[in-house]
Amino acid sequence: MKNIQMVDLKSQYQKIKSEVDAGIQEVIDTTSFIKGGKVTDFQHQLESYLNVKHVIPVGNGTDALQIALMSLGLKPGDEVITPTFTFIATAEVVALLGLTPVLVDVEFGTFNISVESLKKAITPKTKAIVPVHLFGQNADMEPILALAKEHNLFVIEDACQSIGSVYTFSDGRHVHSGCMGDIGCTSFFPSKNLGCFGDGGAIFTNNDELAARMRSISNHGMVIRYHHDMVGVNSRLDSIQAAVLEVKLKHLDEYCANRIAAADYYDTAFGDCDKLILPARSTQSTHVFHQYTLKLKGVNRSELQKFLSDKGIPAMIYYPVPLHFQKAYQDDRYQAGDFPIAEKLSECVLSLPMHTELSEEQLEYITRNVLEFVV
Ligand SMILES: *Cc1c(COP(=O)(O)O)cnc(C)c1O
Repeated sequence: MKNIQMVDLKSQYQKIKSEVDAGIQEVIDTTSFIKGGKVTDFQHQLESYLNVKHVIPVGNGTDALQIALMSLGLKPGDEVITPTFTFIATAEVVALLGLTPVLVDVEFGTFNISVESLKKAITPKTKAIVPVHLFGQNADMEPILALAKEHNLFVIEDACQSIGSVYTFSDGRHVHSGCMGDIGCTSFFPSKNLGCFGDGGAIFTNNDELAARMRSISNHGMVIRYHHDMVGVNSRLDSIQAAVLEVKLKHLDEYCANRIAAADYYDTAFGDCDKLILPARSTQSTHVFHQYTLKLKGVNRSELQKFLSDKGIPAMIYYPVPLHFQKAYQDDRYQAGDFPIAEKLSECVLSLPMHTELSEEQLEYITRNVLEFVV
């Protein structure tokens, strides 16, 4: 049996090696390293895959979120709501821009932003909501978009973990993750569901005006060459990454299917065990399982992790510390107990190996060992 890894990028690469190598070689041969044809080609392919008007390739997912927020014309002190149980990038860019991050709790089942908690956090200073589609499943966007409309707020989706997942609205419309709000952001970090061979990211929008502004912000605020209309940044996807992404985008649906099949295997194996709570699947959204995350009930998490590690099975805690307990984000506004679900999750979650190349033999070995410890 092959070594078990949280993410097996090498086995995935081996299957597409000739195509990827040829794409990279072409970039080297043309020496068109920045803003080459490959970047534009990939941009159009992704626009068509997502069925969205504009894709703006940028340097990484964090930049995508930052540029999105920069395009909204917000003022220092304006409030931006985001969940407290997530990766730090979301709150980080809000703080960096001098805006005020307002944290809210999440749902126990799906790990995603709680609409009830969100409702209570809206004040006259609130300008935007950044829902995070955590672990590959869309947050409940229909009520979030309705709230945003009612209070005149921007919605920026953090779709860094959820590319390929689809949300179904009550009128039957199916919309890709990141394409429901005003702006969506994704990351092509190697371990993400659509990963390149370095850093990369993209912004999605159907709004022409925001698209033009974000394109300019990502390129030093430039509209006409060497004429800078606004303060910008330097953030771009390079051509070698675009060459890799062009190949991998063609396989994205198959990659999602492989992840879902692995999650189904886990669900079936653990379904009868009352000490393991399976990740809830939303009725509105498909789940592309960036992570497969269990909640443990009456199981010593660090001992289980050690037991698995001794058997060659990695398992990770995403995320061990909610944002309101992070040193850099501690704030008089928040105390222990304010976000009970997020606090509870940080103590009981455990993510198992999840990638596109898991074999049935590996899944059988992982699940057998997890059950051996907990039962
Ligand atoms: C990975 C990730 C980011 C940041 O993406 P980078 O490309 O690493 O900058 C932001 N938000 C979430 C939820 C992520 O998982």
